[in-house]
Amino acid sequence: MIGGGLAGLSCAVALAEAGFRVRLFEKRPHLGGRATSYTLPDGSEVDNCQHVTLGCCTNLADFYRRAGAAGKVRFYDRLHFADVRGRRSTIEASALPPPLHMAPSFLFFDALTFADKRSIASAMLAIVRSGGKPPGTEGASMLEWLHRMEQTPGAVERFWRVVLVSALDEELARTDAHYGIEVFWKAFLSNGKGYRVGIPSVPLAELYDGCREAVVRRGGEVRFRAGVREIRVSENRFAGALLEDGSVEEGDACVAAVPHDVLLSMLPKEMVEGDSALAGLRKIKTSPITGVHLWFDRTVMTEPFLTLLDHTTQWVFNKSLLHAAGETEGRKARPREHAEEGGAEEGVMPRGQYLQLVISASYDLVPRSRQEIIDLCVKELADVLPKTREAKLVKATVIKEINATFSPEPGVDRWRPGQESSVQNLYLAGDWTRTGWPSTMEGAVRSGYLAAEALLAVAGKPQTFLQPDLPVEGLAKIWAARKWEGAS
Ligand SMILES: Cc1cc2nc3c(=O)[nH]c(=O)nc-3n(C[C@H](O)[C@H](O)[C@H](O)COP(=O)(O)OP(=O)(O)OC[C@H]3O[C@@H](n4cnc5c(N)ncnc54)[C@H](O)[C@@H]3O)c2cc1C
Repeated sequence: MIGGGLAGLSCAVALAEAGFRVRLFEKRPHLGGRATSYTLPDGSEVDNCQHVTLGCCTNLADFYRRAGAAGKVRFYDRLHFADVRGRRSTIEASALPPPLHMAPSFLFFDALTFADKRSIASAMLAIVRSGGKPPGTEGASMLEWLHRMEQTPGAVERFWRVVLVSALDEELARTDAHYGIEVFWKAFLSNGKGYRVGIPSVPLAELYDGCREAVVRRGGEVRFRAGVREIRVSENRFAGALLEDGSVEEGDACVAAVPHDVLLSMLPKEMVEGDSALAGLRKIKTSPITGVHLWFDRTVMTEPFLTLLDHTTQWVFNKSLLHAAGETEGRKARPREHAEEGGAEEGVMPRGQYLQLVISASYDLVPRSRQEIIDLCVKELADVLPKTREAKLVKATVIKEINATFSPEPGVDRWRPGQESSVQNLYLAGDWTRTGWPSTMEGAVRSGYLAAEALLAVAGKPQTFLQPDLPVEGLAKIWAARKWEGAS
């Protein structure tokens, strides 16, 4: 297994459970890849960026269970929104059956006008009536589809954009309509629990402790600081991995679970050029996410997390509160073995409140300086968290992830290869492989499970790991079923 991100870890755990001896080679000194945490030079432990899951992410939930981490993720049923004047609106489920369960709180959602709500309701109806697959989305961007559905500018800006830019890390004009619609169908319309927001109550790297144990228990090993430089192929079979230290590791099969651009740099050039599935990977673009970590000298926020409307900042996470949930559940702080990039100011660990802000598709922030970004975020917080005006900012860190996710551009799926490669015993895993999901932890775990299934099938020990979606419930089930009857 090359790569210890969620794709590699989920595949490794699945194969270990199937009785295989897995050796996992990870370039960095910790697990989790793009969803990880580390210790800053001053001792504070930070996630590279806040990660959230949703109730509809059934495979990620299954992976956390297998890794013994399910109890370290808390689910929240209420979503709080704040506008420029700091006014709050809340979205939560009612007792009505899906897809109507969110309707009452949506009706009272202050940030939208009646005309906005009416246009949103008609688009939602189109999604539900088609079982999540409305006609006319082929090749269209989400923005084109929303215009076709006659959405008001307010609905686009203060509803669709707010949800989708953070869910898919891309602007609506560059998002395949199919991905945007799936978010609403799976999370908000087809099932009453799909929208629940799951947030780890421990630093991200702590979620993966059980993975290492699962691999080692079966006689395998997890090697850190073990970067692979080259994948060797001979007579169309995997012939070994050349590590950065010059050693060569062999195996019955290899799963490459690294980012798509890294995979291209590892494989023989002539192989990439002669393989359209691999060469197509060059067409997959990436988009950035910026995380801003702010430590205040006092309590400035009471909600666990908040979504901002009409601001550059999209989400604010109350890390002190979210981690306190973990502490009360019995977690003890543990030492970390290393520190890496971050740029935190030197100083003592503050006792006030730690907030983490997230800005997805943060193209505009990439060229801006750390201080400019901090100033912008602190200014915006004053609108929605008035106590920050009086509070002292003790410490701040900005983490720009330039290649955070692949961009879900219209038509991107045609460049995403399956988990079996043209080399007999070489398998691919990663959120960028063909999973039907966008670039998310759920997509990464799906890819890991699919790679494990493909490998086990070839080894003559077929096994299923992929979990079904949440069931379509209530009226959504009746309406979606009518659509299929109509189609047949
Ligand atoms: C800032 C940010 C915020 C995000 N927020 C969310 C969120 O809220 N919810 C969500 O679902 N998703 C989120 N994502 C997306 C999610 O993190 C990714 O989709 C997922 O983690 C990808 O997992 P992966 O295993 O496919 O790839 P990666 O995590 O990139 O794993 C690849 C692994 O390969 C290793 N590697 C690379 N080169 C080598 C080499 N030469 N040899 C050995 N190992 C190597 C890497 O170190 C890494 O550990 C976010 C991503 C970022 C960056």
